[in-house]
Amino acid sequence: MFDELHEECGVFAIYGSQDASINTALGLHALQHRGQEAAGIVAMKGEIANFHFADGLVADNFTSQKILKKLEGDSAIGHVRYSTAGKKNARNYQPIYAELSHGFLALAHNGNLTNALTLRKKLINHGAIFQSTMDTEVIIHLIARSQKNSLEEKIIDATSQIEGAFSLVIIHKDGVIALRDPNGVRPLSLARLGDSYVVASETCAFDIIGATFERDIENGEMIIINQNGVKSLKPFETKLPKFCIFEYVYFARPDSVVEGKSVYDMRKNIGVQLAKEIKIEADVVVPVPDSGVAAAIGFASQSQIPFELGIIRNHYVGRTFIEPTDRIRHFGVKLKHNANLTAIKGKRVILIDDSIVRGTTSKKIVQLIRDAGAKEIFMLIASPPTISPCFYGVDTPDKKDLIASHLSVEEIRQMIGADYLGYLSIDGLYKAIANTNRNNENPQYCDACFSDKYPIRLTDKIGVELPLFEEKNQD
Ligand code: AMP
Repeated sequence: MFDELHEECGVFAIYGSQDASINTALGLHALQHRGQEAAGIVAMKGEIANFHFADGLVADNFTSQKILKKLEGDSAIGHVRYSTAGKKNARNYQPIYAELSHGFLALAHNGNLTNALTLRKKLINHGAIFQSTMDTEVIIHLIARSQKNSLEEKIIDATSQIEGAFSLVIIHKDGVIALRDPNGVRPLSLARLGDSYVVASETCAFDIIGATFERDIENGEMIIINQNGVKSLKPFETKLPKFCIFEYVYFARPDSVVEGKSVYDMRKNIGVQLAKEIKIEADVVVPVPDSGVAAAIGFASQSQIPFELGIIRNHYVGRTFIEPTDRIRHFGVKLKHNANLTAIKGKRVILIDDSIVRGTTSKKIVQLIRDAGAKEIFMLIASPPTISPCFYGVDTPDKKDLIASHLSVEEIRQMIGADYLGYLSIDGLYKAIANTNRNNENPQYCDACFSDKYPIRLTDKIGVELPLFEEKNQD
């Protein structure tokens, strides 16, 4: 049930551009890895809002002249959305919008709120009528109901009541507002494009439109962009930074720079660290493409074992993990990867992937490499065992479906059929990214998926406010 509210997404905003919608479509295309299920753009020209939403990829749905023309405006926000535990719901598009006392407002959210159900119940008891099953919808209700005077104050009032992870972009008639939760769990950065300002989940969205990175939006910072330029506010109580370490491991694009660090460099560091921790005699290092590539490069350089593209990926299928049913997911792995015989046959192969979630991918890949005639298969994982689900915006399955939550490393090895299975240690992960061990009193990142320690309160998990959603989701 909790799964129904999960969102892993990418957001984009631009203010003051003749080509606001085209730039937003391009930015969302660059952020496509953060969500492939649906996308939406809301553009504004003065008080007039224009929008378009579609299932599927940005390149397939937002590039026609007809649609871009419809999206007239000199500022725009956009959103790409990830699958939510298999449920497609026409009402679950973002940006989410409404007509408020201050006029039209639309909002796009990356992250996951941990008290959305509790708030939703309260709002419904006060007469609110919800249109979707998205956690994000509570934010717009809270803004609408705030008794504060200015829109800025209403947004602060609303966002001080929400808990969890939220990188938000908001559009209204006078400009764009961007905001990051007090722990800064999800990324959000600011850039310039000529006289325009741009905000995006990742810097790869700036590169595609030629925008120049200015800075990351800070934890608990709200920036107000309008005809007067950019104003920064720090309206929330300061909290310890808890940026999601999994963004470095898997989620962010390798060509993005997040929190001042190149994702690609961090992944190579992780591979170097893995080679320091696990010494193996082998003939080749083979990445599971694309997620294991950077770590495998790091591993090969540190271990001095040749790097080979022993698995070739067919790019014309989506990520297997996000397919909504088991049956399709199994099929997906076969569609996606093929063994490159010359690089593998008769060899002792070190296979590197970033993570094992359910174990489905690793099992198929090991079989693939075995069938291709590998002599021995050593599977190395460039992160610690994934033992706990994410409640802050990465769409991980329930704990029971996370293989490492209930099987030992040796049991997982047997299940996936490898001759050896090794994971990076949690201290190793911190060494690679933060250049120091994990601070166990106050970890430098959110690493709940690897540690089971959730740094932000999970109000809905403890609360008793759930039945409403059960009813809602039966339709
Ligand atoms: P699985 O087959 O469930 O073990 O999935 C493992 C594969 O999914 C790895 O190759 C990862 O790169 C990838 N992966 C890990 N976490 C996620 C996620 N949250 N969303 C999509 N793919 C993921």
